[in-house]
Amino acid sequence: MKAARAKTPRRPALKKPPAPGPKDPVGVYCRVRPLSRQDQECCIEVISETTVQIHPPDGYRVFRNGEYRETQYSFKEVFGTLVVQKDVFDVVAKPLVEDLIRGKNGLLFTYGVTGSGKTHTMTGSPGDGGLLPRCLDMIFNSIGPFQAKRFVFKLDDKNGVDVQCEVDALLERQKRDAMPVPKTPSGNRRQIDPEFADMINVQDHCKVDEVDEDNVYSVFVSYIEIYNNYIYDLLEEAPFEQIKPKPPQSKILREDQNHNMYVTGCTEVEVKSTEEAFEVFWRGQKKRRIANTQLNRESSRSHSVFIIKLAQAPLDADGDNVLQEKEQITLSQLSLVDLAGSERTNRTKAEGNRLREAGNINQSLMTLRTCIEVLRENQMYGTNKMVPYRDSKLTHLFKNYFDGEGKVRMIVCVNPKAEDYEESLQVMRFAEMTQEVEVARPVDRPLCGLTPGRRFRNQAFKEELARKLEMRGGPINGETEEQSASEIFLQSFPPLPSCELLDPNDDQTLPKLIEVLEKRHKLRQMLSEEFAKNVLAFKTTLQEFDSSVISKENYIQGKLSEKEKTIAGQKMELERLEKKIKTLEYKIEILEKTATIYEEDKRNLQQELESKSQKLQRQASDKRRLEARLQGMVAETTMKWEKECERRVAAKQLEMQNKLWVKDEKLKQLKAIVTEPKNEKPERPSRERDREKPIQRSVSPSPVPPSSNLITQVPSSQRLVSNPQVHRRSNSCSSISVASCVMEWEQKTPSHKHTGGTSNARSRQQEPEQSRDYNTSDRRRGMCWTGVIEVPRRRDELEIEEDQCCRNAPPVRLRHRRSRSAGERWVDHKPPSNLPTDTVMQPHVPHAITVAAASEKALAKCDKYMLTHQELASDGEIETKLIKGDVFKTRGGGQAVQFTEIETLKQESPTGRKRRSSPSNPDPPEDAADSEWTDVETRCSVAVEMRAGSALGPGYQHHAQPKRRKP
Ligand code: ADP
Ligand code: MG
Repeated sequence: MKAARAKTPRRPALKKPPAPGPKDPVGVYCRVRPLSRQDQECCIEVISETTVQIHPPDGYRVFRNGEYRETQYSFKEVFGTLVVQKDVFDVVAKPLVEDLIRGKNGLLFTYGVTGSGKTHTMTGSPGDGGLLPRCLDMIFNSIGPFQAKRFVFKLDDKNGVDVQCEVDALLERQKRDAMPVPKTPSGNRRQIDPEFADMINVQDHCKVDEVDEDNVYSVFVSYIEIYNNYIYDLLEEAPFEQIKPKPPQSKILREDQNHNMYVTGCTEVEVKSTEEAFEVFWRGQKKRRIANTQLNRESSRSHSVFIIKLAQAPLDADGDNVLQEKEQITLSQLSLVDLAGSERTNRTKAEGNRLREAGNINQSLMTLRTCIEVLRENQMYGTNKMVPYRDSKLTHLFKNYFDGEGKVRMIVCVNPKAEDYEESLQVMRFAEMTQEVEVARPVDRPLCGLTPGRRFRNQAFKEELARKLEMRGGPINGETEEQSASEIFLQSFPPLPSCELLDPNDDQTLPKLIEVLEKRHKLRQMLSEEFAKNVLAFKTTLQEFDSSVISKENYIQGKLSEKEKTIAGQKMELERLEKKIKTLEYKIEILEKTATIYEEDKRNLQQELESKSQKLQRQASDKRRLEARLQGMVAETTMKWEKECERRVAAKQLEMQNKLWVKDEKLKQLKAIVTEPKNEKPERPSRERDREKPIQRSVSPSPVPPSSNLITQVPSSQRLVSNPQVHRRSNSCSSISVASCVMEWEQKTPSHKHTGGTSNARSRQQEPEQSRDYNTSDRRRGMCWTGVIEVPRRRDELEIEEDQCCRNAPPVRLRHRRSRSAGERWVDHKPPSNLPTDTVMQPHVPHAITVAAASEKALAKCDKYMLTHQELASDGEIETKLIKGDVFKTRGGGQAVQFTEIETLKQESPTGRKRRSSPSNPDPPEDAADSEWTDVETRCSVAVEMRAGSALGPGYQHHAQPKRRKP
């Protein structure tokens, strides 16, 4: 055995920047812990194996202007609340352990808010071991039988490893055994500290499948804490002073030859089993706890780093000892980091000194964030910004993982409770960003160049040796049991006599030998003959066998070819069918496409149809509306025109009636002139009858008796009672003249074919009934008087005007006109354009104010108005019209004139000139006349009476017209 104490060879130094080999992104996993009992609201949901959804808690929305956003974050894998430690380990840590054993570095850290389950994930809880004990367990399960003896590997103080020779190692082992310090349990599970026993009691014994068995391994663990940007060794053996505790000495970071960072002077304990390793960890954990209590520190604000280093070196060619070649020793390490709570300082109740510490801790995490950010930027945008690893101990320690090579994995722990929402968001953002950083994939270490299986062979050899030694004294080549057949055969030959010829005269030995040899020769010949025979027999059997085999083969071949033929046929059939299928599929596809096209067409056409029908409906409804409107308009227009026509017809009729009447009257007058005795002075019959009351006859234009107006307002019977005289008088003249004339005219018209006086009387008796009907002759007669001036006029206009005159001012004052007639004052309006008529009888108005133009001043002083109007008649004579009216004071303070009558003065030829125009018809019975009186007729009768009574001559026509005109 060679006593070798060589410096541990280092791996070739990495060139900076590292060679651009394959890179892997940082593996980021998310673990959501279950809600604790007191927490109600959950704001994180695992929505898939790789995605979590985080939504703000209820109150939060109000805080942020009602903004409600659900954010999703994707990770390599998300572990929900039901995922157990083993599953997390299998996914996250197992590959790291495998890498470690293959000589590659790894970094695993948990990140999250305090209470989010970082420690639970990393260390585990009692009865539920976390990643750390599981990693240890897997390592020892894998390398267990291939571990080097203690102290064979020796770590130096420069992050390197030495291999000691067996003797040195043995010496050290003896020294250690002699030490009084408590030894760590070496593989004896019964001595485990019950405090953590159930944490490492991992049921499923995981192990790496392909462990290089030709290597020897050794595990070293160290446990450090970074607090307030100081590194403390948690495994340092310095006794802790209870009375005056000294603050622990902080350690410094150094970079080794390979640019790996290490903590100088850090205790690294070689461990040989999971229990031993975890015991060491637990020791550090306890120390950490004590320090936190003694120094009043916030445990959640420190980062703890548990480093597992695995040294491995190949066995030599014999498979007996560790190879001493420097470059063959590999040291890989796995750092398990439980980071401090990532929450911001203001969230915890840190005060004073603690606050400063907290700030520093935050600074570490901040630096980590910055480093990750810069790394990401450099990688994504090809920039070359300096990554500020040195700004904090934490990042400085991790530098070689990000800058060099290795596998980096992070577990983001989140607590889904509402209070952690904002912090969780920060954590998620950081985690997402971290995923974008890539780390160089560690390269496989070079092979040592020795034959594999050395260990096994050596082991087998040793075992055999031991067995042989045990069986000391037995034949060395003792393969008695498995003696070969040739040996047995040789033994059956006659033994050779001794061949030593000591005496030249010995003539016995040789003949004996010859005899024996001859025997042997014979035997040999026999044997060879037998052999030849056997060979022959064997040959024939073989040939037979061969031929049978050949025949069978042939048979099989034939069968095969048959089968092949059928197969080929089937294949062809299959191909044909496949082709058919393809064509059919193609056809189906085409048909489907066509169908879709047709369907689309159908849909389009349906839509078109719908739109068109809608349009049609709209048009129809429009048409209907238009029709209705047009019908309405037509009806309206028809009605209007009907009315208009009616009115015009009526007007025309009235006009014709009037003309007829006038002609009749003229005829009658003529007749009267012709028939009357010549000595008698022409007198109006009315005048004869009204002899008792001559006062009533006057030239003065006061022909409308108040009674006549009064009559319009009271029933005819009353009128007769109240003023029988007036009635009688008026009737006596008017009834004779107007009624008889009308009757005469009516008899001429085809619609009223009454004959004789009896029919007159009958018609008069019918009149009250007829008067109610506007279409009867009475109405026509009534309209006759109004229509002379006003036709054609709209009926509604007339009605309004009548209505207005009734409302605005009574059509006539209820004063007794006759008694006041002397006091009535007239406005005699004579336009200057009037021509002087040289008639004998001139209209004379007493107390009149004669004016040339209508003036309000004059009207204000008078209560009667008369306009003298001249026009040329059809026969060429000048016709003078005296238009009379009453003057009223309007409510507005002005003057209004209501025209009441028109007197027409006309000159005729000198030969047939007559002053009397009233007919000498006998008076109709008063009763009959009474019944047919209407307002219009009253006026007519008055007019006729006046004409009859006045000495104006037969040419006078008097029309009463209830019309008002403003002066
Ligand atoms: P941190 O280290 O992030 O501050 P801890 O790991 O100490 O948080 O977890 C706080 C508490 O939550 C512990 O009591 C732990 O048992 C519990 N816990 C955390 N994660 C889980 C989990 N996945 N399942 C069950 N309990 C958990
Ligand atoms: Mg913790």
